[in-house]
Amino acid sequence: MGIYSERTTCLIPGCGRPIQTLTGTGHSKKYCKQHVEFHRRHGSYWFSSLKAEDVAPFRRISEKWIKKNAADFRINFGLQQIESLLEQAGRAENAYDLRYFSGKEKARIALARIRAAGIAPKEILTRIIAITLCCEARGVDNRLREYRHVQLAKSIHRLASGTHRTTSGFRMKTKYPRSEGNVLRYLGRQLDDIAAFVLNDRDLSQFLPPAK
Ligand SMILES: [Zn+2]
Repeated sequence: MGIYSERTTCLIPGCGRPIQTLTGTGHSKKYCKQHVEFHRRHGSYWFSSLKAEDVAPFRRISEKWIKKNAADFRINFGLQQIESLLEQAGRAENAYDLRYFSGKEKARIALARIRAAGIAPKEILTRIIAITLCCEARGVDNRLREYRHVQLAKSIHRLASGTHRTTSGFRMKTKYPRSEGNVLRYLGRQLDDIAAFVLNDRDLSQFLPPAK
């Protein structure tokens, strides 16, 4: 296919499915429905999300490092930034169904719920650093920052799911929106800024396990 001809199949090598506009399933002129959805959920068209066991070793490194450097001004400033994010989030929405909120609103509500659940800023910072290091170890660079944003957000968003109280007072499992889409991009960008500040000028290789 020449570069000027119209693309008809998905850009992902080996996929071969028709692009979305041809199947009437969406607006993408480059990717098929399946790959567009994959990207919404994972932040990349081909890298799937990090698993808990992928992140676990970096969580331990992150915990130790934060503890050892408790007096470090960047770490303290990072914790302050997290605290103000939580404070600015306001009240946790009692809405049962958040489907009709914008991504930006959903990100705010997720932060408000984390605050209402009493999650410590240190726990959030531990997760942010762990995900950042895990991405770094996998060669996720700035071209793949959307993937990093989504992975950061998923790790934190998870803290916000759970139960909520209905108007009648019963505890119900929250019908929380699936962790995908714009909410993860909004949240992820904010978390990535915090990571960038806390880790700025540091040689991340000192944190990473030696290459096999
Ligand atoms: Zn595809």
